[in-house]
Amino acid sequence: MLKFPIYMDYHATTPVDRRALDEMLPYFTESFGNAASRTHAFGWTAEAAVGVARERIASLINASRPEEIIFTSGATESDNLAIKGVAEFYQEKGKHIITTRIEHKAILDSCKRLEKQGFEVTYLDVTKEGFVTPEALKAAIRPDTILCSVMLANNEVGTVQPIAQLGAICREHGVLFHTDAVQGIGRVDFDVEAMNVDLASITSHKMYGPKGVGALYVRRSKPRVRLTALMDGGGHERGYRSGTLNVPGIVGFGKAAELAKAEWREEAARVTALRDRLHSKLTTALDEVFVNGPWPAVAPDGTLLRLPNNLNISFAYVEGESILMSLKTLSVSSGSACTSASLEPSYVLRALGIEEELAHTSIRYGLGRFSTVEEVDYAAETTIASIRRLRDLSPLYEMAKEGIDLKSIAWTGH
Ligand code: PLP
Repeated sequence: MLKFPIYMDYHATTPVDRRALDEMLPYFTESFGNAASRTHAFGWTAEAAVGVARERIASLINASRPEEIIFTSGATESDNLAIKGVAEFYQEKGKHIITTRIEHKAILDSCKRLEKQGFEVTYLDVTKEGFVTPEALKAAIRPDTILCSVMLANNEVGTVQPIAQLGAICREHGVLFHTDAVQGIGRVDFDVEAMNVDLASITSHKMYGPKGVGALYVRRSKPRVRLTALMDGGGHERGYRSGTLNVPGIVGFGKAAELAKAEWREEAARVTALRDRLHSKLTTALDEVFVNGPWPAVAPDGTLLRLPNNLNISFAYVEGESILMSLKTLSVSSGSACTSASLEPSYVLRALGIEEELAHTSIRYGLGRFSTVEEVDYAAETTIASIRRLRDLSPLYEMAKEGIDLKSIAWTGH
């Protein structure tokens, strides 16, 4: 039985897994202690629970020590702490930072602020599938480069970056390497040791834990990474992040990490099959549809190129916003930033070189742990019906079908 509305926006957030919630609950009531209270049992119990979570999260990303995990309020804070914290600490060494055009705003806006403070930032271009090339990174590194930040996987088009290759280049050049690993954790391979990652941002609510809690992995040796804290206060988290710890949230985050470690491969295979089913149904039934980001999702040599749960498609000649309006029973998102006053097409799609008109017609489907075959079939059916209906009303689609080159038309007025 289908339950409406159907959720297909797992890139935005995920529901809390029951098993994580069950572990959290006692920490709201009977075990409510402050993890920083060193003088009594309530504090010790909370501190021990935080310790277990720290170990589980460290283990998920193969950090060599649990102390390398710094708890934060989420990935926005982790990204800010990584970029600004490293910049401030290492500014005597250099004031150049490298990142990409398709990062989350938490990275891009942190970099913009640093530019105002006299830092220089290189924004790497990406390929039409959204990849940063090792050559582009190598060419951007300068003697004064202190940090490079490249996301593990993109939240809009699902591109999975060659993090191990990029990490090796940074290590070789003595540049610290940060990755925003939010979308990839629990969905693709991620190992801070094997990939030479020095800092990594994670958030609980994208991996079936609660909202409002995240972590920054900060390498402690080879090399030892140092940061200037953003917040002044009680010196929690080894001085990197003052503030009373969100113990129930951290416990849920820890359990979610344990589940991800045990189950992610199986889950990724199942979700890939669902995503491929959706892709196949949509592209078989409709013409003039274009997948944004890498497709096929796996390279001939077996390298994973795209998140298992991501499908971003442009349905030419119909506005993404109109599609969303007609898909009320389906929770997906569009490639236009409808939060802004003007309907700007997404900067990620533009960085991939996708034309503005086509970018405006994009829909992002995000599948996840609780997605089912029935839901995917319904999503395909309702999308197909809605695109057909909208195209029937579209003079542009009709003209294109008649073979008129829309670019040749001299439109009058606006
Ligand atoms: N980085 C990426 C790639 C994201 O997708 C998100 C979530 O929107 C964030 C950072 C921000 O995470 P949070 O919601 O935990 O602040």
